[in-house]
Amino acid sequence: MKPRKSGNTIKPISFVVLLSLVFSWIFNPSQVNASSLHKVSFSDVAVFFQFGIQSTFQARLQSSDKVKEIVLLIQSGKETPISQPLTVLDNNELIYQLDLAKNPLRPFAVTEYWFKGRLSDGTSFESDHYSFEYIDNRFDWQTTTDGRFTVYWNSDDLALGDVVLQVALEGLRSDVTYLPVSPPLPVRIFVYSSGKDLQDALQLGQMTWVAGHASPDLNLILISLPPAIEQRLELERQLPHELMHILQYQVSSDYYESTPPWLSEGLASLAELYPNPDYSRSLEEAQKNGSLLPMKDLCNSFPTEASLALLAYAQSASFVQFLSDQYGISALQTLLQNYGDGLDCESAVQNVYGSDLSRIETQWKQETLGINTGLLTWRNLAPYVFLAFLILIPPIIVIVLHRRKKGLEKFKD
Ligand SMILES: [Zn+2]
Repeated sequence: MKPRKSGNTIKPISFVVLLSLVFSWIFNPSQVNASSLHKVSFSDVAVFFQFGIQSTFQARLQSSDKVKEIVLLIQSGKETPISQPLTVLDNNELIYQLDLAKNPLRPFAVTEYWFKGRLSDGTSFESDHYSFEYIDNRFDWQTTTDGRFTVYWNSDDLALGDVVLQVALEGLRSDVTYLPVSPPLPVRIFVYSSGKDLQDALQLGQMTWVAGHASPDLNLILISLPPAIEQRLELERQLPHELMHILQYQVSSDYYESTPPWLSEGLASLAELYPNPDYSRSLEEAQKNGSLLPMKDLCNSFPTEASLALLAYAQSASFVQFLSDQYGISALQTLLQNYGDGLDCESAVQNVYGSDLSRIETQWKQETLGINTGLLTWRNLAPYVFLAFLILIPPIIVIVLHRRKKGLEKFKD
């Protein structure tokens, strides 16, 4: 697929040119004299990668003394660096090939790498730190920006980027009514033309239901938008949702990952301009079958199985809507702030609403879902009562018969 440019709005960016060569090349033009004693220098430092397959790191080393040992350190995002011992080749070259299927780098994050070693005279040395952005270069990306958002898309649709920009702005306007904070701009949005390509990029394996993803610490959104009649509606659902995660990160930052998903996903689902029509169906079915998930089970993670995941999203959206209607949006913002301060799932709810999660859950079931919780409790207990009855009946019969027999014997006497 060849990239097309849609008029003046599409600005070619440097990495697109590089990506068209399949490999990426990051070159530091200046020769690096790394050792404090100026004994070692590095040149022709470069990295080539095929996203998800392999990355080749290379450099040329000049040294006044023999190199006793040298390692390459690779750090993806904030992960612990991996260290790989290297051998200096005859022409002073250093080459290392990293299997990206076995050692995946964080997609779209900056990967840093550098060399460290020791000379035969015992002097240690360390090179400068080099970096590259691990962009998904399996595709040629078209791009456009309005300053607030920069959109990249891999379909042939010339107008798609401008539509995405428009929906992103509408989504942001909707999002800030729930959470009035501004994200760092521009937010990068990558639009895949296939859900599978997005899932492969994120290495999601079996989670084939995932359509969009936000990496708020990278100020990055990935969405999938297969060509379809309802493409615009899908965009109006996914984009405001993922943007809301970017806004949440501005509030909860370091504690973003530990914010209970019922709140983060519920809030993000509320912000969707076109709500997911499957939510109400899923909620109704679970209500009918008595298979609603306890909200406390959604404090740490969501189920990965598709229908349960859908139910978890549906419940969270409904529950957060209830909290918003009942206690106001500012209490929800305070709740998010409490999680941002590191409070756990139950404590923050208690702190903000003065009630525990299960009690509010009961209220939500009664008032939003119209469930008679007393009847529900009885229905849940009924099998146990019946079982107890079955267990107790035989001994009672035995006792009664025994007493009757005794009575008869007494009568005979
Ligand atoms: Zn989400």
